[in-house]
Amino acid sequence: MISLHEVSKSYSSGEGIFKAVESVSLTIREGSIHGIIGPSGAGKSTLLRMMNVLEPPDSGKVIVGGQDLTRLPESQLRVARRSMGMVFQQFHLLHNRTVSGNVAVPLELAGMSKRQRKERVEECLQFVGLQDKAKQYPARLSGGQKQRVAIARALAHRPAVLLCDEPTSSLDSVTTGEILNVLRHINETLGVTVVIVTHEMDVVKEICHEVSVVEQGRLTDGFALEERTARN
Ligand code: ADP
Ligand code: ADP
Repeated sequence: MISLHEVSKSYSSGEGIFKAVESVSLTIREGSIHGIIGPSGAGKSTLLRMMNVLEPPDSGKVIVGGQDLTRLPESQLRVARRSMGMVFQQFHLLHNRTVSGNVAVPLELAGMSKRQRKERVEECLQFVGLQDKAKQYPARLSGGQKQRVAIARALAHRPAVLLCDEPTSSLDSVTTGEILNVLRHINETLGVTVVIVTHEMDVVKEICHEVSVVEQGRLTDGFALEERTARN
């Protein structure tokens, strides 16, 4: 489903060139919940952002649905990215738009008609259990509710994959459990493949089928959690 082949990424800073990710190869199985765990600064987020080429690798291939995304022109890449929703630690909601307005953003950018948008936004809010908050502004929501809005927005294009960057790291443990339940529900009922970057082993133990360990820009371990099997 998603395969990274020998991807590398360096950043240049005042002190010279820093290798954030070094020659990582990794396959995310279709229908699975895949955790990417490691300490802060290990390169996890860079690795995740290479999966939809939000961060273009310096070298290596990113194969999604049989296509090497690193070779697509920007216009085609934009379309390919619609099949990969993103969720962030800090939610990244627009504060001057309502909950519905936030979920509609990707659909507006894609030029979907107002009528279709309305239907799709309702479907996505219903999926995360927030229909009753549609007209509220994000400032009035709890952290867990904000993250559910962000997840609804990530579902707007009915993606095949959700890429989640520390989705629970701003939340308390009860709310973390709720958000992990939402992600599990999406995986089980919609068949969406979920990739979760985290530094918390508890998150991995709670919902992941497979785990990759990243340290200092390299993949150092990978294992399956045997008590759990993916839908597909
Ligand atoms: P993690 O998600 O594991 O915390 P990141 O992928 O965010 O790690 O970062 C890996 C390393 O690359 C860190 O040392 C970080 O400071 C550096 N880095 C990440 N993004 C940039 C950037 N845009 N410019 C310079 N350095 C960066
Ligand atoms: P449909 O052909 O109606 O989309 P599905 O079996 O694909 O049938 O979906 C079942 C339900 O889940 C429908 O109500 C559909 O609108 C909704 N749904 C499907 N995919 C997504 C998605 N990625 N995000 C949110 N809702 C979805």
